[in-house]
Amino acid sequence: MSAADVPFWGPDFAELQASDPDIADVVLGELDRLKGGLQLIASENFTSPAVLAALGSTLSNKYAEGYPGRRYYGGCAEVDKAERIGIARAQQLFGVEGAELHVNLQPHSGASANLAAYAALLQPGDTVLAMSLPHGGHLTHGSSVSFSGTWFTPVPYSVRADTELIDYDEVRDLALEHRPAMLIAGATAYPRLIDFAAFREIADEVGAWLMVDAAHFIGLVAGQAIPSPVPYADVVTFTTHKVLRGPRGGMIVCRPDLAKRIDKAVFPFIQGGPLMHAVAAKAVALGECLQPSYRDYARQVVANSKSLADGLAAEGMRPVSGGTDTHLALLDLRELGITGAQAEARCDAARITLNKNAIPYDPAPPMTASGVRVGTAAVTTQGMTEGDMKEVASLIGQAVRDEDGSAAAEVATTVSALVARHPAYPRPA
Ligand SMILES: *Cc1c(COP(=O)(O)O)cnc(C)c1O
Repeated sequence: MSAADVPFWGPDFAELQASDPDIADVVLGELDRLKGGLQLIASENFTSPAVLAALGSTLSNKYAEGYPGRRYYGGCAEVDKAERIGIARAQQLFGVEGAELHVNLQPHSGASANLAAYAALLQPGDTVLAMSLPHGGHLTHGSSVSFSGTWFTPVPYSVRADTELIDYDEVRDLALEHRPAMLIAGATAYPRLIDFAAFREIADEVGAWLMVDAAHFIGLVAGQAIPSPVPYADVVTFTTHKVLRGPRGGMIVCRPDLAKRIDKAVFPFIQGGPLMHAVAAKAVALGECLQPSYRDYARQVVANSKSLADGLAAEGMRPVSGGTDTHLALLDLRELGITGAQAEARCDAARITLNKNAIPYDPAPPMTASGVRVGTAAVTTQGMTEGDMKEVASLIGQAVRDEDGSAAAEVATTVSALVARHPAYPRPA
């Protein structure tokens, strides 16, 4: 059957343009922005056309409260297949020899996955020991503006002032002092590897659960570029849209004895019907992660990140924590005499998208910040390698020094030429 004969009903851009030109323009404008510049936000990536096709499918219409084979609605035979395929792929990707792994594909986001993990394992008021937000933790790890800091009792750990690395002795001391019900490892802006075995030992010593929030780096685990938290954690939560390169969403994997608690916490405790188009798209992405080419991708992401961090160091930006082992780097800009907010705005003017970010012990307020965070997941998807990262570092260096905006147009032109050599979403030949 040729492609034209497949009885598929899915995204039809001409239809959107005809029926809603305003939103069609937004979609086109965003594609233009994505393709026309450098996307260095460490939590973003470019999903494949296959993932987008599943996301844009009529699976979005289906109500499927419950789990495969145990639904509260009829007509779930087809979506059951998608969820089962996705679960089997996740087990293959993240499972450890000889041990069963439970998988829940339904969390709508990383924050939802974390809320479900808290709900499964904790009682309101319980103490949770997690990395402090200004040192790279996530809002859901105990911030007062999140459920985590309002309904639970957060105790933050930090990185050392001298090395900017996690201080496992401090984590242990805090655990012994506060006796948390749960320890969380994982962060949004920590560029180095995390010692999951050390966290496991501390959790065991105080009888706490160990949750690993692997949102940022789970893609590198899937690609076998960094060690897996799965053998050590009781529960691993993550997003599917960062390095993993799937649709926007969340996932949880856990030991089989926690399966019921996790599943009940996701549905019906915190969510209603799952987004079956997203569940199917997660299955597609997990299938892509099982391909040998994804391992090459994950390794290249890390190689690019190291190369970019080195290049930025040569431009006068200090890599926090001494460098990176992952897809992201955090740069201290104080030597250049500019703030994170200024750097973000100047890069934006030159079509380089990155974000300002607090650095550990940052003297500046969060809306200004002394650093920027960069990640290489997206640029690696578009085929860039270490040589390109040297050029990217030089372009960032020129952009952040451009006080009066006089160089922005010229830098943007070079950026356009660079991304044109490695197009994201190239037109089919
Ligand atoms: C991105 C992220 C989340 C939240 O994911 P959302 O899908 O935005 O809710 C949670 N934890 C960590 C560590 C993250 O990096």
